[in-house]
Amino acid sequence: MSDERAERIADFIEPLRVEPGSEVCLERDFDPRYKAGLKKREGIELLRTGVSLLSEYQERLAAQNTYGVLLCLQALDAGGKDGTIRHVMSGVNPQGVRVSSFKVPSAEELDHDYMWRYARRLPERGEIAIFNRSHYEEVLVVRVHPENLVRQRLPESAVRHGLWDRRYREINHWERYLTDNGFKVVKIFLNLSKEEQRTRFLKRIDRPEKNWKFSAADVRERRHWGDYQEAFSEMLSATSTKWAPWYVVPADRKWFARISAAAILAHTLMDIDPQFPDVGEAARKDLLVTRRDLEREAPAGEPADPYAEKRKKKRKKKRKKKSKKKRG
Ligand code: AMP
Ligand code: MG
Repeated sequence: MSDERAERIADFIEPLRVEPGSEVCLERDFDPRYKAGLKKREGIELLRTGVSLLSEYQERLAAQNTYGVLLCLQALDAGGKDGTIRHVMSGVNPQGVRVSSFKVPSAEELDHDYMWRYARRLPERGEIAIFNRSHYEEVLVVRVHPENLVRQRLPESAVRHGLWDRRYREINHWERYLTDNGFKVVKIFLNLSKEEQRTRFLKRIDRPEKNWKFSAADVRERRHWGDYQEAFSEMLSATSTKWAPWYVVPADRKWFARISAAAILAHTLMDIDPQFPDVGEAARKDLLVTRRDLEREAPAGEPADPYAEKRKKKRKKKRKKKSKKKRG
């Protein structure tokens, strides 16, 4: 991997990162319309590069089978979580990715501690797991609507003051534990403006094929806009850590949100820098013996190793092309 590519990506995502320990005020500090001076056309080209980069790195992640990645996506309704997942993961092998969406918890889920259902959906080594909504709902929707907390039937001692600070601490520790054990945690908050949400809701109403995505509950939720902004700001301040920082992705332009998410995920994978496993000297020797046996099985008239033959031809063609270019 060229360091230059890695550096460009690191520079691109730097303004989106929430500095650990900083006090965030979402509306003051992050502009949902920021686009790093890019034009949409350039952005789409960049997304293509990002997607192929992800595909290359995911293959290595799976082959190495040592690290896993957990990508948490948070946003308000119509923030673009589904579209981001669809586009960013469009080039990767579905076998190496698991996507989990978290909705209102079921009776079974409520019968456990609040982290239980998230822990069950963690990635295996070699996998990328995506959380469409995540354990952060436990300090967002549950905080904005305290009736959710009542449903969790916590003991008296666990709901006394300091509940949210305790949850932040528990989340940070959990993510630290995962990181220390080879599971990188990446957190993206899609930052949508109130006006853009209004426009997207209207689009969902106006276009029949989008109607299924709209629910009246979404508009009721919108009335709590201010409470959510406050809960987001506190969450970002308390849980952006060195081992698992938050990225606030401007979400008013879908194309920009998508390239940002791809860049953040690519940055994480480049940081892991997974390698194809080396089978070792002894195994390599065995392979060469097997190779000779297979070559001996070649039917009359067929090359001993058709694959090697093909590669030789390809290399020859490439050399010819190169020298032609040099001459002309
Ligand atoms: P959607 O993602 O649009 O399908 O909606 C899922 C709904 O589940 C949203 O309204 C969330 O607020 C809600 N939800 C997700 N996690 C929780 C939770 N832990 N407690 C209560 N509601 C939740
Ligand atoms: Mg919804």
